[in-house]
Amino acid sequence: MSSESVVAGSTRCDRCGSVMRCAVRQAIIDGRLRSEVESTCAACGNGWATCSDGADDYVRSALLAAHGPSRLRLADGPFDDDALLLGLLRRYGGGGLFEVNAKVAELRTIGCTGTAVEMELLARVLRAAGYSVVLEGPRPSGQTGDTA
Ligand SMILES: [Zn+2]
Repeated sequence: MSSESVVAGSTRCDRCGSVMRCAVRQAIIDGRLRSEVESTCAACGNGWATCSDGADDYVRSALLAAHGPSRLRLADGPFDDDALLLGLLRRYGGGGLFEVNAKVAELRTIGCTGTAVEMELLARVLRAAGYSVVLEGPRPSGQTGDTA
């Protein structure tokens, strides 16, 4: 399983007022992106955790701040098939048509960026469709040895 995590920021415990440790994590679970936030208080044991499907802005920016962005570029594949790429990206990340169109243009030129886990997931989607991709920058831990 690929995942990336970081201890991000701190909040005050609402029970005892101590500083809580806040950990965020992104993982690929069953082929989908999962975002998790977990806060724990070392002083009194208070804690909470949330997780959500898809990208979470807080989790995302914490990971990007800690590890920097990864970049994914298309190396080879059915380059002239915009419709195929559009369909894949929409299924992968949703988003509006304008947003997805912009991403297709990015992929073809400078490459698109995101967290290591997001780019790993996108790489899997594209590889499964016959594209060859290049990943640059930080890689998620727990790499399962898949090849380009
Ligand atoms: Zn506490």
